[in-house]
Amino acid sequence: MVEQTCIRCKKTFPATAEYFNRTKAAKSGLYAYCKACSKEKVQEWQRNHPERMQEYRRKARATDPDRVKGYSRTHRERKKAKLEQLLKEKDARIAELEAQLNALREVTT
Ligand SMILES: [Zn+2]
Repeated sequence: MVEQTCIRCKKTFPATAEYFNRTKAAKSGLYAYCKACSKEKVQEWQRNHPERMQEYRRKARATDPDRVKGYSRTHRERKKAKLEQLLKEKDARIAELEAQLNALREVTT
């Protein structure tokens, strides 16, 4: 069975989608980080970028329903959910790019 070692926790898992997220960018088709580490990377990024999270919360407050008339609650909720989803995807993408970069560095050094 083909195995892959996570570049973060250095644990070896079977190289399947059960242990590694899939990515088209990597040769193996799998992330260099195991699933657990991928999740941690995103949380780590959020911890390391509190100003981004603060900015996000500030913007969310700016769309306060009591101040913005004619802005329906459902519309706002939908928009909020969409923005949160986009942010999550962006964080995951950043973590993915970092993982790819680290993987490349491992190869060249
Ligand atoms: Zn790992």
